[in-house]
Amino acid sequence: MYWEKEFETIERKKLEKLQLERLKKTILDAGKAPFYKQLYQQKGITADKLKHIDDIRQLPFTTKQDLRNHFPYGFLSRPKQEIIRLHSSSGTTGNPTVIFHNRHDISSWSNLMARSLFCAGIRDTDVFQNICGYGLFTGGLGFQYGIERLGCLSIPAGAGNSLRQIKLMQDYGTTVVHAIPSYLGRLYEVFQAEGLDPRKDTDLRLFVIGAEPHTEEQRQRIEELFGVKAYNSFGLSEMNGPGVAFECTHQAGLHIWEDAYLVEILDPETLEPVPDGEIGELVMTTLDREAMPLVRYRTRDLTRIIPGSCACGRTHARIDRIAGRSDDMFIIKGCNVFPMQIEGVLLKIPEVGSDYLITLEHVDGVDEMIVEVEVRRDWFNGDITRLDRLSRMITHQIRDEVLAKPIVKLVEPGSLPKSEGKAIRVNDKRVLDTVKI
Ligand code: AMP
Ligand code: ZN
Repeated sequence: MYWEKEFETIERKKLEKLQLERLKKTILDAGKAPFYKQLYQQKGITADKLKHIDDIRQLPFTTKQDLRNHFPYGFLSRPKQEIIRLHSSSGTTGNPTVIFHNRHDISSWSNLMARSLFCAGIRDTDVFQNICGYGLFTGGLGFQYGIERLGCLSIPAGAGNSLRQIKLMQDYGTTVVHAIPSYLGRLYEVFQAEGLDPRKDTDLRLFVIGAEPHTEEQRQRIEELFGVKAYNSFGLSEMNGPGVAFECTHQAGLHIWEDAYLVEILDPETLEPVPDGEIGELVMTTLDREAMPLVRYRTRDLTRIIPGSCACGRTHARIDRIAGRSDDMFIIKGCNVFPMQIEGVLLKIPEVGSDYLITLEHVDGVDEMIVEVEVRRDWFNGDITRLDRLSRMITHQIRDEVLAKPIVKLVEPGSLPKSEGKAIRVNDKRVLDTVKI
């Protein structure tokens, strides 16, 4: 049992009181970090001026660029000897983003993870296989600590090697798997290639999927292929990693843990709050992190608060699945397009396989959107007229959705490049092309 009733079902008034107390402490702590110290002194910001949680709006934002500019220790608010772990993004260009934790922070994060897993219906009787990279990324250790705190048998499988993953599932009777959704489509193909059916040949009952944008269509597909329930898990390394927001068994949005994070949804242009129910940018403040508090961090993730209450009794607000990132959007032929719009169209079509790739490039002086789509192995038989018909249908449906006409290329299952971690959905070659010219 991992149900923190007094926190998870707290009344809104009491929650706001707790949030204000924690916000004041956060600002006090943050003020010790070189970055915030200078900023807050300059602007005359002190914790005692905060009288209501809405006063957060008077505080300046923090951006990923700020984190990079003050790499590595500019956001540290505690002495180094108190720090016990760091996690960091890959940082292939420029400085990586690094987050530091002390004992309190790791314990608080583990708690949120255990709470999240319980909320999705996972119990200590489950056998939990964590198919996720262990190391500097947060998904490995973040889940590991939560699974152990909840008390499941954990299998720290790491990412990749699908045959070994299947063997682990069968050897130990795995009931729960955490993985990124784009990997699960590929894993299913390996089951098929081995002549196995995960519905019959494993004890799987539940998936936790997250860490990358995906559509409701993709979730439903995964649920059908494996015969399991798949729950959405949202997090970002700047807010620890996983365990920020999680679906409960009602699958009606993700409860975002408001005792640990102060949540704002803002219009990304005006930076003013949008009403509940409307999509905006998620901006978050840590309320229970000591070593490296972050205040009004602009996540760039687009979502909305789902109005109303949840049947599970938890009072923490629910966010909708992430619609995309403000920096994911691309413009083609004058139309604003989010990759998830295209995924939504593709995965409604039964003949479409598990992967797709959107490439943007100049062709004969014109910007084109080329959508390569893998077709399903059991459907692909080389019949050209069938492929032609499917390709035309996909072209029309994408154009109806995003208003720009794509060039659709159907490709063999398994032929698109696979990334090590999160799926790369868009390859924008236009910038490079322009430079070449
Ligand atoms: P990272 O900091 O590398 O863990 O990446 C965090 C980012 O991954 C978030 O800001 C989101 O853009 C994305 N992300 C994480 N979980 C989800 C999810 N469940 N659905 C959609 N996007 C997600
Ligand atoms: Zn709920």
